[in-house]
Amino acid sequence: MRIVGFDGGRIGVVKGDALCDVTDVVAETWPSSAAVNRLIASFADLEPNLRGKLASGTWRPLTDVQLTAPVPKPGTLFAMPANYDDHVAEMASPNRADRNSFFVLAPSSISGPSDTVVLPDLPGYRVDHECELAIIVGREGRHVRRENAMDHVFGYSCLVDLTVRGPQERASRKSFETFTPLGPWMVTRDEVDDPDDISLKLWVNDKLRHDGSTRDLIVDIRGIIEMVSSVSMIRPGDVIATGTPAGVGPVVAGDTIRIWVQNIGEMTLSVHQGQPIENRAFSQAVAN
Ligand code: MN
Repeated sequence: MRIVGFDGGRIGVVKGDALCDVTDVVAETWPSSAAVNRLIASFADLEPNLRGKLASGTWRPLTDVQLTAPVPKPGTLFAMPANYDDHVAEMASPNRADRNSFFVLAPSSISGPSDTVVLPDLPGYRVDHECELAIIVGREGRHVRRENAMDHVFGYSCLVDLTVRGPQERASRKSFETFTPLGPWMVTRDEVDDPDDISLKLWVNDKLRHDGSTRDLIVDIRGIIEMVSSVSMIRPGDVIATGTPAGVGPVVAGDTIRIWVQNIGEMTLSVHQGQPIENRAFSQAVAN
């Protein structure tokens, strides 16, 4: 099932080019950007009603709505650093996911497929794109073993991890508002045959920059669930960015970013120039 957010907090299911509004199955009285977390948590209970709604409800063209991030407000946004060997090599970095473990980002950095990416005005700094598969957590868990890990995966989405390069903390460099586009929808895990062989690509202005597969992950999907839950409780609606294959490069205002993930979908984002920021840690220009 392909589940979308749209029109400011409504929830829909997509089939082909059509959408069915299922918000009332989840949130009877008030649509909310957190309602989808409830849908994920209660999916097994709600699924019969959802299927009923899809059979009897009205479908309308997807182009009639404004898509938002499928999970606009995850409890926690986890992320894996340096999780593909070819990316480790291109960064000439001592970092590796199996040595560094995960980090967290501000969930408020998440934006949707209809939003623009807004670059802070940081003269001398470079902002890179990273092309990632997002895991959407479906079930609460702590100390989840890899053999049970898939029970905790609700589904997947496309995620672009925008990153200012510099010496500042990763959470600061990657948490600018609109720096984590997520979408265009999430696909439940039953529709993905093999999570260890999902191709992912990203283009900037129609030039291919990333062309990878989750078969090359250093810490694979099951390992990520095990690693994150060894430290933190994972909860329904949490989002985990799994890391980028090689191909990172700069984006500037006026660029168009297109991300595609096999069996999930694709989304196209435009990049705009934003305002200068007041932050003394970013006030010193760095050479890239
Ligand atoms: Mn990343």
